[in-house]
Amino acid sequence: MMAQYLALKAEAQDCLLFYRMGDFFEMFFADAKVAAACLDIALTARGEHEGVPIPMCGVPVHAAEAYLARLIKAGHRVAIAEQTESPAEAKKRGGKTLVERGIVRLVTAGTLTEEALLDARAANWCVALGEAAGGVAIAAADVSTGRFELIECSAAGLGAELARLAPAETIAADGSAFADAATMLRPRADFDSGAAERRIKELYGVATLDGFGQFSRAGLAAAGGLIAYLAHTAKGALPFLRPPRLHQAAHAMAIDAATRDSLELTQTAQGARKGSLLDAVDRTVTGAGARLLAADLGAPLMQRPEIEARLDLVQLLVEDAALRDALRTTLRGLADIGRALGRLAAGRGSPRDLGQLRDGLDGAWRLGERLEKIPTPPVLLVGLAPQLRGHGALIDLLNRALVPAPPIDASAGGYIAEGYDAALDDLRDAGAGGRRAIAALEADYRARTGIAQLKIRHNNVLGYHIEVAAKNADVLMKPESGFTHRQTMAGAVRFNAPELHEVAAKVTQAGAHALAAEAAHLEDLIAAALDKRENIAATADALARLDVAAGLAERAVEGGWARPALVDHACFDIVGGRHPVVEDALAKRGERFVANDCRLSEDSRLWLVTGPNMGGKSTFLRQNALIAVLAQAGAYVPATAATLGLVDRLFSRVGASDNLARGRSTFMVEMVETAAILAQATPRSFVILDEVGRGTSTYDGLAIAWAVVEAIHEDNRCRCLFATHYHELTRLAERCDALTLHHVRAREWKGELVLLHEVSEGPADRSYGLAVARLAGLPPVTIARAKSVLAKLEAGRAKTGGLAAGLDDLPLFAALQEATEEECDAIRAEVETIDVDALTPREALDVLYKLKALS
Ligand code: ADP
Repeated sequence: MMAQYLALKAEAQDCLLFYRMGDFFEMFFADAKVAAACLDIALTARGEHEGVPIPMCGVPVHAAEAYLARLIKAGHRVAIAEQTESPAEAKKRGGKTLVERGIVRLVTAGTLTEEALLDARAANWCVALGEAAGGVAIAAADVSTGRFELIECSAAGLGAELARLAPAETIAADGSAFADAATMLRPRADFDSGAAERRIKELYGVATLDGFGQFSRAGLAAAGGLIAYLAHTAKGALPFLRPPRLHQAAHAMAIDAATRDSLELTQTAQGARKGSLLDAVDRTVTGAGARLLAADLGAPLMQRPEIEARLDLVQLLVEDAALRDALRTTLRGLADIGRALGRLAAGRGSPRDLGQLRDGLDGAWRLGERLEKIPTPPVLLVGLAPQLRGHGALIDLLNRALVPAPPIDASAGGYIAEGYDAALDDLRDAGAGGRRAIAALEADYRARTGIAQLKIRHNNVLGYHIEVAAKNADVLMKPESGFTHRQTMAGAVRFNAPELHEVAAKVTQAGAHALAAEAAHLEDLIAAALDKRENIAATADALARLDVAAGLAERAVEGGWARPALVDHACFDIVGGRHPVVEDALAKRGERFVANDCRLSEDSRLWLVTGPNMGGKSTFLRQNALIAVLAQAGAYVPATAATLGLVDRLFSRVGASDNLARGRSTFMVEMVETAAILAQATPRSFVILDEVGRGTSTYDGLAIAWAVVEAIHEDNRCRCLFATHYHELTRLAERCDALTLHHVRAREWKGELVLLHEVSEGPADRSYGLAVARLAGLPPVTIARAKSVLAKLEAGRAKTGGLAAGLDDLPLFAALQEATEEECDAIRAEVETIDVDALTPREALDVLYKLKALS
């Protein structure tokens, strides 16, 4: 057995091996130690290997899912080795009677389909990174629903796309540039773009891939690698994959990983859903709706018609409360047909999954009927409605075939409805008749023996048998009694009898035949459902889209949100804007959120926001970034009115010291991220910068903040909110014509600081640092001391002109040394001679040195 175990283990070295032994999955050696510690179960030993006891632990098969979930969560991968023949078959082979075992599946975080192992409200992406011909692509599959996306992106954009998907598992080719600790490396051959093309054609039974859109070589490589990996984990049986959908990064608002983190779009800095924008907006009532909403918020759109189409549907549902309520009530009761389909397609489906499919499709049908009655439906609805209806035949079949609430476990039967199959009904009748006959026998035996407590029982070892208490056994022991002794227990004795044997055989046989008949029907029904899987998946999508729209409408009504108006010019005009997360948090404490306007326009596209700490600067900045995300995701926004030009890229950066608590951001990171903004922000972008430059000394920080504001104003020319405590920056208003000054209002009242959280025009009249310090409970003596130090400093400032003395004379970008014409020509000539594809890394470095010398 150990030899067999070790051979299997060699096949799955990067996994924990679950080795099936009877009713248990056992683990041995190092696996046992790891699993025992992770699962908190007993570590024992079994036999010896090379003179040392073999560590072992095990989990019962019936409870395996819960243990699997914990192992996967802890970052492990598990290989399941099942018995691939019965002990009886093994015996027939003669000689050794060790049953054959084989690995039937690798359970990994990215390839789950089980309800218990998945978060119903989150997608579960497995992604493969491909590179070829200088391009990069991501193939992403959620095998729990069959979604398959192909994302072509630049190497620089990879991080942003991965942050959007937040994959459960990432794979790449062995030796690829993407390899990092979290990436699983797979054979290079899997990522060969030629082989991949064949594999994809085979999978979808097509002669050309043109129907799916334009695949790059990198896209093919990624898709091929992913399909090969999924086949590997499923041991050949591919899970359900819908035709790949090309996701064009350029069609969505670009949001890089740092911005996503900082805005807490789908999860907070601590990794929780609660407290994120998604959580504050989500009023969906189905898992599929919640997953789609997360995807929508993660990838706000860039095409106005698409956004307007979503908004039209939301508006319909905002205005028609009865329709909205009806829709949500129906949806709430619907099963997750996408995931049920995923399980059925993966070969792990149960009768209950089929039941869910039936109920879900039936609900979709009824919804479709209701929606078709809407007199002038918005365009999105016109597209969705037909997808809801169209499963009449399948629903009808499943309705006739299945009992109302089919069980998860198929092994006991009982899921095929009466009247579906006359032969099955006969077998069941025979079984039922037999069971009645057995009950009659029991009464008869009681009468014959005079033992009132005599019972006919059933177990797996003896089948049907007669049981009496030990004290009554003597009568039945007599040979002439007609009973045969089978077993003596503590306190009870068991017998058989010819009549019972005969009837029992009939019951058992009828039961076995009935089970087999049900299993055959189950297989046919699953096949019939899978036949329509494309359409069912489309229905699931349509339901999710309706749920998202109804949820957004519900949220909008609840919060008094407004439909954003999208325009062509780069304005950003929000009246009475609010931060949905902060507003919710305040409401829980019984406090009111102060709404604020944000009116960026061509001649006032950069707002410098000053004011005391805790005054509401960050909140103001973020609420506007969130409004941009919501608007382009097709949602109403938390404002009285909102008009904005589409945002192509969204950036949010927070000064280093705010992030220090997370223990990872340093001033260096802050500067790297700021550099990325200056390099990428376009006039259509929207940037919020919060206290940039404060992660270093005052002079450095002010200097950097100053230069960054200038660069954004002069070069990037994007819409920008810049919060700072460097009062000196307000001088920039005089030289930057599209920069305006704003502040969050505060007032000292009877010596106490009152934060009004109101954004007003003009610079803050003074710094309230000491007042905030008092508010925070700094001891009065310390405050008094700080006051006198401040007085001295301010006196010094008055005399010298302060920190920013002399800056007013500095010409814009004085530091920039322009290159001369000749220098430019020389460099251009040199660059033109370079054949990038032909360069080795070493030669590339030489070229760089040469260019450097020329500049
Ligand atoms: P700053 O960035 O100026 O230090 P924050 O934006 O972090 O201030 O806000 C501090 C706190 O003030 C928030 O946690 C919130 O409780 C409250 N606050 C912020 N903005 C508002 C607002 N518009 N209305 C009501 N309370 C607000």
